[in-house]
Amino acid sequence: MQRTAQCHCGALRVTAVGEPEWVNACHCKACQRRTGTVLHVGSYFPETAVEITGVSKAYARPADSGYEIRFHFCPDCGSNVYWKASRFPDHWGVAVGAFADPMFPAPSFSVWQESKHPWLSLSDALPQFVQGRIGAPLGRRDPD
Ligand SMILES: [Zn+2]
Ligand SMILES: [Zn+2]
Repeated sequence: MQRTAQCHCGALRVTAVGEPEWVNACHCKACQRRTGTVLHVGSYFPETAVEITGVSKAYARPADSGYEIRFHFCPDCGSNVYWKASRFPDHWGVAVGAFADPMFPAPSFSVWQESKHPWLSLSDALPQFVQGRIGAPLGRRDPD
């Protein structure tokens, strides 16, 4: 399986081989502002499974966990396409929306439920965390 994510204009591309190791949804306010949408959905692939082509600019910010996240976006059209979380230095994060593939694997957990837009419904089967993935998800005792 090989999939290609790309920015709005197509100049910045990420090709990922194999399945993502995990996919998550995030409702934090930083992700809302970064993406311009009400939630972020991200996939994580091992670095060795990813090939990046095109020019990017990067913007780094500290995550609430204290680790830095460096987001790469197309300097021409501005789409966020991929990122490096210093918490997971051997992986690339790739924006699920940039694949524009409705059959892409669904998230396996969701974080920052406290700032989720209330009209948005997610499956009760999806582990959901009030804030980051620390502590037990809503309605469950232990995440791992
Ligand atoms: Zn672009
Ligand atoms: Zn977030």
